Amino acid sequence: MKDYYDVIVVGGSSSGSYFARNMAKQGFSVLIIEKDAAEKISSGYDIFHMSARERNSFDLPEVKPGDGVYEFEYKESFSYSALGNYPKYGDAPVIGMHRHEYMLMMNAWARKSGAEILYEADFSGLVYTYGRISGVRFRHGGVECVYSCRLVADCSGKSAVVRTALPDDYGIETRPLTEKDVFFVKLRYIKFREPQAKKWMKSQFYLYYKTWLAPCGDDADCILGIGSSLGYDNGDRVYEEFLKNVKIPPFDVVKEELGTTPYHRPLYSFVSDGFIALGDAAWMTKANNGEGCIAQLPLEDIAADLGGKVLKREKYPTRELLWKINKAYYSGPGRDAVLMLAALSRAANHSLETNEWLFKNDTIFADKILCESAVPKPLTAGDILRMAGNLIKGTLTRKVSGREIRFLLSGAVRGIRIYLHYLRYPSKAENFKKWSKKSAKLWKKTGQMSDWSNTDSGR
Ligand SMILES: Cc1cc2nc3c(=O)[nH]c(=O)nc-3n(C[C@H](O)[C@H](O)[C@H](O)COP(=O)(O)OP(=O)(O)OC[C@H]3O[C@@H](n4cnc5c(N)ncnc54)[C@H](O)[C@@H]3O)c2cc1C
Repeated sequence: MKDYYDVIVVGGSSSGSYFARNMAKQGFSVLIIEKDAAEKISSGYDIFHMSARERNSFDLPEVKPGDGVYEFEYKESFSYSALGNYPKYGDAPVIGMHRHEYMLMMNAWARKSGAEILYEADFSGLVYTYGRISGVRFRHGGVECVYSCRLVADCSGKSAVVRTALPDDYGIETRPLTEKDVFFVKLRYIKFREPQAKKWMKSQFYLYYKTWLAPCGDDADCILGIGSSLGYDNGDRVYEEFLKNVKIPPFDVVKEELGTTPYHRPLYSFVSDGFIALGDAAWMTKANNGEGCIAQLPLEDIAADLGGKVLKREKYPTRELLWKINKAYYSGPGRDAVLMLAALSRAANHSLETNEWLFKNDTIFADKILCESAVPKPLTAGDILRMAGNLIKGTLTRKVSGREIRFLLSGAVRGIRIYLHYLRYPSKAENFKKWSKKSAKLWKKTGQMSDWSNTDSGR
């Protein structure tokens, strides 16, 4: 094995394999260093889900029944109110896969394009030349290794071991995630006690509790997943409330899995001299369902395309040269992602009565908004006017409190403000300071999910 590469990727899970593959495909020499052994990689939890339609829009290896990765697929899902009423239907197919086996498949796929992988290689620091990154240090087999490269990609997940090791003045956010910035996810694999309960084995969202009940495959009937802010205890409280209000047939929990996932706006900038952050290390989350493995792909495609062009043209990828990656992401998919995150952070918190009313009246929680459909059903001005009319009627007839409606609307308004601000994302790195200062103010005013999780209506 040589000790110089064009690109060194730290972390060989989903974001690392995908980026390594796309860089190696362009002819660059690429090394992934992964701290775990191959037989342990991504084994923290088992089943994970991906929207099949979105998956198909990216260049990913095919999965199919019998390959040890694919577990199940279902075609439709339903969203319910807090008391299990007023179902909204969606025909968005979802694939369930075994995570560890999937990552081995992704590793093999990266290798097939020419990337090399070193397992049990633990990143320990960066090498700098004239103050700019020029390589990485890692421990492998009890030995400290030093390898040189032109670009380091931090794909080490939410610990972001590379980014957080950078000096504070390196031109990128270096802080780690705090407990306030993540979702605590508990997956309960359940088996129903009575055979007639099988009708419950369909994909069901209960947004009020940030809870999802979905068919599971062979080992259990369903997975009951709850995502909550501020710790697992909070999630357990929500679980009790959910079981009290939604009458699910008796079941046994056969297995539990826990983990945290970022629930935070993405980094303001992903690049610096000889450096890029991707995946969870860049705080990529799909705000409406937590599918981080899909959320990370649009930025990764942009990074491989524009980053590849820089590496082909120039000797060293400076922050200025890589800046186009930020601009391209926030001119497209990134802008939609921040709008969704900002709006949802408030919309998800309201009282049970209001949730019932909103579902009943197809207001905010409407078919068109909740359910991705094979046939796109865009919201029309008429839809929006009808919803606004409903909200006013609800307030006037005292079915919903004016305070709650103001809070919900303020989420939409702040989301739009943030969206408009990202429309003005700077084209050049030199204008970034002013832009990020204003962003910080807007996000502070908007707040995040955890800010309301211990209020009366928050969960
Ligand atoms: C319980 C739970 C359920 C989830 N369910 C879903 C789901 O159904 N669908 C979905 O799309 N997403 C889901 N997510 C989110 C998803 O798991 C993450 O968004 C995704 O794994 C992030 O990918 P990543 O490659 O950026 O980071 P990770 O998958 O965390 O990978 C980081 C890699 O870096 C390695 N690494 C870390 N430190 C070092 C070091 N010092 N040196 C070398 N290597 C290092 C790690 O060993 C690891 O292999 C879930 C998350 C949780 C917690």
